[in-house]
Amino acid sequence: MTATLGDLPWEDVLAQARRLETRGGAKVPPDAARLSDLPVTGPAEILSVTREAAVGPGALLMSSGGTTGKPKLTYVPYHQAVDRLLEQWRPLTPESVMLNLFNPGRLWASHYYMQTLGERSHCTVVPSGPFAPEDVAGWLPMFRDIGLDALAGTPTALADFAEGVLAAGEPLPIRTVIWMAEPWTDAKHQTVAKAFPDAGYWANYGSVETYIIGTNTPECELQTLHLMPDQMLELEEAGALLTRRGAGWTMPAVRYRLGDRLAAAECRCGRPDALRVLGRADDAVSLRSALFSVGEVLAHARELAGVDEAQLVLTRATDSLKAATALTLEYTGDADAEAVRAHLTSEFYHLAAVHARFPGAITARRTGRLSRVERTNKVPPAVWREE
Ligand SMILES: [Zn+2]
Repeated sequence: MTATLGDLPWEDVLAQARRLETRGGAKVPPDAARLSDLPVTGPAEILSVTREAAVGPGALLMSSGGTTGKPKLTYVPYHQAVDRLLEQWRPLTPESVMLNLFNPGRLWASHYYMQTLGERSHCTVVPSGPFAPEDVAGWLPMFRDIGLDALAGTPTALADFAEGVLAAGEPLPIRTVIWMAEPWTDAKHQTVAKAFPDAGYWANYGSVETYIIGTNTPECELQTLHLMPDQMLELEEAGALLTRRGAGWTMPAVRYRLGDRLAAAECRCGRPDALRVLGRADDAVSLRSALFSVGEVLAHARELAGVDEAQLVLTRATDSLKAATALTLEYTGDADAEAVRAHLTSEFYHLAAVHARFPGAITARRTGRLSRVERTNKVPPAVWREE
């Protein structure tokens, strides 16, 4: 049996599924008697259900495309479920002055969600988008002047900003760091912690389609989150399934397939329903017929001393979307490139076989800066190049 997190009464789930069915959602089998009898839902149901809900109140049209996979459209209500969120998660007070480092535009939701969170928290928001480290110094006098004390961004944007503050050599009294949308690496977290030693970390987990599913506070372990109430998750390997009840969400969900693998966890705060994000569910790639998980290879690479952050650069085989003819592990840090390559092929025996048979198909390369997704400023786990 699949492990689950959270618990909902079957009558409530069935009622939600029947409501969705009348609004463009999946068909409910007439003899459905338990959760596993209901169909798994995906982007098509989300689009039709949220589009119908937007008739009348209007909506923000958002897309989750751009990092991995093809774009998925969602009509997001203007309230963005912030009132439901604020019932258990309040990182900002009316005195807070928050710098919104999320990229605006291009249908990416995070920037607009942060603006609404600021509005509903009655605080001051500075809607800036991300900064290159070298641009930070010029803005610091103004930030100090207005009493800036909170940051919101991806770990990548937060680390860039922190690097700029450290280079300027003048402290900025940040007390609150709100982060989401990608995992931390140790190197990024160390940079942010060094620049803002008094900051507490507040996280969200979710997606553009579902908005916020889980949260954490400074009492929690950095990358452990807690499922919000009125939801449950089926922790499937192929991607966790989300089910919700009640109103006030950006969208209702019955067995909606998330793109991530999640696992139940314990948190030092002692609160229940803790979870960790293990990685993308669909990150299998083949290199000269050897199958591997992008996340597993990167996790192993980062274990080597001198590798701060890593990314796979894959040369696409002409006959398949997820098949590569060559793999270069690009990384930041001071490790020797040949040692990094050897570290990889010693762990993954099928990659070792590829390396023996096709010399040059697996390489490692040190770089000053990994590729980013222009739309979101995130560092993607893998980048594809055409041959
Ligand atoms: Zn916790």
